[in-house]
Amino acid sequence: MYPKEKFYATILGIEAPWHVTAVELKERAEEVHVTVALGASARRVCPTCARVCPGYDTRRRSWRHLDTCQFKTILWADVPRVECAEHGVVQIEVPWAERGSGFTALMEALIIDWLQEANISAVARRMRLSWHEIDGVRERAVRRGLARRKLRSIACIGVDETSFQKRHEYVTVVSDLERGCVLHVADDRKTGSLDEFWALLTPRQLSKIRAAAMDMCAAYVRSTREHLPNADEKICFDRFHVAKTLGDAVNTVRKEEIRELTANGEYAPRGTKYVFAQNPENMPPWRRAQFELLKDSSLKAARAWRIKDAARWLWTYTTRGWALRGWKQWIGWAVRSHLEPMKRAAHTVRDHLWGIVNAVVLRVTNAGAESLNAKIQWIKKQACGFRNRERFKAAIYFHLGGLDLYPATISTHTRA
Ligand SMILES: [Zn+2]
Repeated sequence: MYPKEKFYATILGIEAPWHVTAVELKERAEEVHVTVALGASARRVCPTCARVCPGYDTRRRSWRHLDTCQFKTILWADVPRVECAEHGVVQIEVPWAERGSGFTALMEALIIDWLQEANISAVARRMRLSWHEIDGVRERAVRRGLARRKLRSIACIGVDETSFQKRHEYVTVVSDLERGCVLHVADDRKTGSLDEFWALLTPRQLSKIRAAAMDMCAAYVRSTREHLPNADEKICFDRFHVAKTLGDAVNTVRKEEIRELTANGEYAPRGTKYVFAQNPENMPPWRRAQFELLKDSSLKAARAWRIKDAARWLWTYTTRGWALRGWKQWIGWAVRSHLEPMKRAAHTVRDHLWGIVNAVVLRVTNAGAESLNAKIQWIKKQACGFRNRERFKAAIYFHLGGLDLYPATISTHTRA
């Protein structure tokens, strides 16, 4: 007969000098308790300096492991502490778990896998653990991943802000636009928020960055100019952010016009917000019909929309000279439109034209940043919002940081 101790040693991957000494079934509690012990002759080393040290005492510890069928499985061991001349009294390392964790590495890896699919509450419920235990696993995974991460050469970065739970509370998200992963998450959206990111890079890494896409926000521009060599040729006010400024202006024109028409007792077309906000090719057919009726009308909103739409074609230039000429022409048109919000938006464009032209000729696309932003919205929704900024940041790193999150003892082979 295959003894149960050997059976558990095999499936737990317990190898000499550690041995399974007892397996106990607690039927009522639906638990399996596995006791593991270190051979008396085994060398005991300090976990920091790896020097063999005299034993000091032992501490009884337990780790939750993967379930045995429907039974919770708990690993027990008297873990020796050694007295290191340099590091004092310290507990030796065990091969099945990371220091400070109440879970075996395999259990942590399973929790990490589940966290990719579901939120903390759901994982806690399914794994019969507390919310805080699951949160702790995620936090450790992120810390581990960030400590291991080596920032390789980055060519294009995107800088964006995103709010969480309470409006007006923001974090700054810096992403690698080519790899589509998040590089840094900082508090607020100030100059200092971005300074933190630049400090992570070596001068060599800084020199490799050829474009930095961002919105027309003075704080990010200031920080970039301070840290990135030749920043004025690399800062890109990308299409997405410019389009947002113009879209907001069109919406202001529309709202003011409705207010004005209603005050004068005239007919004001309602429900037109999305008619003028969406690009026609993305509209559902029913909205498209309404759009076709309105787009050439004499409504101010329609006029504003035509100005915004014309700007879409200004992104196709390939040379700096032509791009400048095209944009300047457009600015002239918008300024002469007698539509105050469009005029203001055109002035914003004029003041940032240098960075817009960089974006046009460097062909910096916001597609990567946009899909990351969509994923961040998913993270927020999945967690039912965040009250805690640090948790929000951890969740972004966990899902979008491209990090190696698993405990060190889990080899890449077992991960599949
Ligand atoms: Zn030591």
